[in-house]
Amino acid sequence: MNKQQFPTNEQGAPASLAGRRVWVTGHRGMLGAAMVRRLENTGATLLVAPRAELDLTRQADVYAWVRDHRPEFVFHIGAKVGGIHANATLPGDFLRDNILIQTNVMDAAYQAGVEKLVFVASNCTYPAKADLPIKESSLLTGALDGNIRSYAVSKIAGIEMCRAYNAQFGANYVAVIPPNLYGPGDNYHPEHSHVVAGILRRVHEAKEAGAETFSVWGDGSPRRELLHVDDLADAMFHLMTRPTDWIYNVGCGYDLAISEIASLAAEVVGFTGSVVYDASKPNGTMKKLLDSSKINQLGWAARKNPRDGLHEAYADFVSQLTESSRARLG
Ligand code: GDP
Repeated sequence: MNKQQFPTNEQGAPASLAGRRVWVTGHRGMLGAAMVRRLENTGATLLVAPRAELDLTRQADVYAWVRDHRPEFVFHIGAKVGGIHANATLPGDFLRDNILIQTNVMDAAYQAGVEKLVFVASNCTYPAKADLPIKESSLLTGALDGNIRSYAVSKIAGIEMCRAYNAQFGANYVAVIPPNLYGPGDNYHPEHSHVVAGILRRVHEAKEAGAETFSVWGDGSPRRELLHVDDLADAMFHLMTRPTDWIYNVGCGYDLAISEIASLAAEVVGFTGSVVYDASKPNGTMKKLLDSSKINQLGWAARKNPRDGLHEAYADFVSQLTESSRARLG
C-alpha cells in the first residue's frame, strides 16, 4: 500500500458521505448515538456492530468484521468511559480496554484501506497544569492529573496513533479532543457518571424526596467546559468532510464553575432547596478550558447553550427512569 492510496490530511476529504460506507463504533453510547443521528439524511450507508455481534477488544474478530463490512470512513467512538470516580477506581479496566479497542479499530481500518477516520479522545489527555485556554500544542508537555491518569494515557496512545499512522503510512486519521460531554443518552449511574449526569440525578432525587438540600462533589470551585453531545457529533462530521490537520480541540469556548452547573441543574429540575458540598469527593483539575480556535477557523462553532442543553438532558433522564420503572413492573 503506498501513499497514493492513502491521501494525506490536506487532500482527499469527501465533501459528502452520501453513498459511502460509514462505520460508527460505540453506536449505543451517548456520543455514538448522537453520531448516528447526525448521519441521518446524509445518504451515508451506516455500518454498526452491536456488542453481542462484535467485541472490539478481540483483535481477530475486529479484523474479520472490517474485512466483511468494508467501511470507507470510520467514526471511532467506542471506548470505556466514566467520570472522575470510575477513573479512580477502575484504572486497569480503562487502560486495557481502550488500548485494545483503539488499536484494533485503527489498525484494522488501515489494513482495509479506510479513507478517513475520526477518533475521539478527551481533554484529560492534557497536562494538569497546561496553560489556559489549552491549545493542541500542550499535549505531552507536562504531568497528568493523577485521578484520571490511566484513561488519559490510553487516549494519548490513540492520539499518537493518529499522528504516527499519518506520518508513516499516509493514513488520514484525525483526533478530536472534547471537554465534558452531556446530553441525551448519558449514563446516570450514581457514582460512575460524569458531572452533569451525576448532578442532575441527585437534584432530581432530592426533589422527589422533598429534601432541603442536594449534594455536589468537591467544593464547587473547579470549572468545566460543557459540550452538548450533538454539537460534538456535528463537529466530527464537519472534520470528516473537509481537509483537516490531525488534531483538533472541540469545545464551546467557555467554562462554568461546578457551583454554577449545580444552580443551573436545580433551576432546570425545579428544585428550590440548597446545595451542600461533599468534600470527601475529589475536585480533580481546577480548570480545563480548551482553545478551540483551530476548529473555529475551519468554520465550525458549538450551537447549544447550557440551559437548553440541560433541559434536554433532564428530559432524557426522566424518560430513562420511566422506561426502567416500566421494565421493572413488567
Ligand atoms: P472530569 O472533568 O474529568 O474531572 O470529569 P467529571 O465529569 O467527572 O467532573 C468532575 C468534576 O465535577 C469534579 O470537580 C467533581 O468534584 C465535580 N462534581 C460535582 N458533582 C459531581 C458528580 O455528581 N459527579 C461527577 N462525576 N463529578 C461531580
